[in-house]
Amino acid sequence: MTEPTPTILIRGGRVYDHDGDVHEPATADVLIAGDRIAAVGTGLPAGGATVIEARGKLVIPGLVNAHYHSHDVLAKGLVEELPLEMWILMTGPLGGARSLEEVRLRTLAGAVEALRNGITTVQDMSTFAPFRDDVVDTILAAYEEAGIRVVYAVQIRDLSNVTTVPFWKEVLPPALQALVGNENVDPRPITNFVAAQIRRRPTPGPRGTWALGPSGPQRCTPAMIEAVVDLAERHDLPIYTHVYETKAQALYARQAFGEDGGTYLRYLDRLGMLGPRVTIAHGVWLAPEDIAMMAERDVGLVMNFMSNLRLKSGIAPIPTLRRAGVRLALGSDNCSCSDTQNIFQAMKLYAMLNAVSDPAQTSLRAPEALRLATLGGARTARLENEIGAIRPGRKADLAILDLADPTFLPLNSVARQLVYSETGRSVETVIVDGRIVVRDRRVTTVDVEALHREVAAYLPQFRRDLDTMAKAVEPALPYVREAHRRIWAADVGFDRYAGFPRTFG
Ligand SMILES: [Zn+2]
Repeated sequence: MTEPTPTILIRGGRVYDHDGDVHEPATADVLIAGDRIAAVGTGLPAGGATVIEARGKLVIPGLVNAHYHSHDVLAKGLVEELPLEMWILMTGPLGGARSLEEVRLRTLAGAVEALRNGITTVQDMSTFAPFRDDVVDTILAAYEEAGIRVVYAVQIRDLSNVTTVPFWKEVLPPALQALVGNENVDPRPITNFVAAQIRRRPTPGPRGTWALGPSGPQRCTPAMIEAVVDLAERHDLPIYTHVYETKAQALYARQAFGEDGGTYLRYLDRLGMLGPRVTIAHGVWLAPEDIAMMAERDVGLVMNFMSNLRLKSGIAPIPTLRRAGVRLALGSDNCSCSDTQNIFQAMKLYAMLNAVSDPAQTSLRAPEALRLATLGGARTARLENEIGAIRPGRKADLAILDLADPTFLPLNSVARQLVYSETGRSVETVIVDGRIVVRDRRVTTVDVEALHREVAAYLPQFRRDLDTMAKAVEPALPYVREAHRRIWAADVGFDRYAGFPRTFG
């Protein structure tokens, strides 16, 4: 067997090792050959490879954004102060029929921001309709152009909004129910579409892997879940789904899933879905028994604090989840509800929100947040042996940060300062799959200035459309607010808000 030819040598940086000195990482060289890390050590010969001098720099594993939707990137900064169920009404249509130009621009814009923030893998639960090959091709071409690694799932559902949120069916006059979505659809053409995509494109691109994305247990009939399970088993794929994001969802489980003990997890279990290939998003309103079941069945959880806080969904019970041993990862979620693709923010919130529900000291420390942001995310994509650490044999996905940035002035602990101080500003170089995709803080794969111009030119039309969408659902909002008053007044047995007196206005 011939040795692979070295292609890049990162020389003399501090290399972050999850199992090494996380406060003062040792200085080492990282030798890359093709798409993989060939060696980590001192005095490694360049052997013709491109040399990146990394003295005074920090080399970290590429960050993994384990939950994201690319469909509303252009709505970043446009929406504020909406609970999830109202936000879905306002921004959901962006996951409908949109121009291929918009699809390309939004995918590239999201990928470019992710790369600049040291994210090398993004899990896109891709939302669009109608289901068309050219939309998938446009999204995947944009990811390929950007050079980011993507775990790609098409988000699917066959049940309408009106039947999946507590009280909506009761309070909304029949004439207004269409505004919030009241058409259930046949699951077969949808799951057939997903199956056809996997057949058509055995991988979603040179740096892509497939996943499956049933939107949520309350939004998918048993027929759809069973088809997903079948596809997952046939192609050995991970499954992502939204579970217990809001109190409304917890209450709906109690109301509509009595046959399964009022819990979505037992419903999914009955249909054969629950197990190690599944990662649920959010889990803010998981009951203690659900948490125990997740730990027992090795079901993962990706937490999205930025989105949960922006959409008033509450705070996931971090101490309980940790004590139970649920495997965890971090995500940024949509741009219209988190406004950034930034896992540094997600790590900081994970470490800090740990204190909200329990003042007692726990064992949570910054290195754990870094593990979640790398290896934890990798595990949700079933790539835990491929990415998430700088080790020989793994994919060469990493970021190089400038330790001369004020973030590290003074440098006392790399791990803590990455979690509590860093914003993404120090990220200087990013390598994905052995390719330099960010150099000197500039994305090398995409003409970002041209992208800014194209997005700016497209934006007036986009904003007009978003405005039209928001106006269209306005007549339904007083009824949706009434449903929320009832939801907030209901008791699901526990609380996920900080314990101040609340008004249900
Ligand atoms: Zn989501």
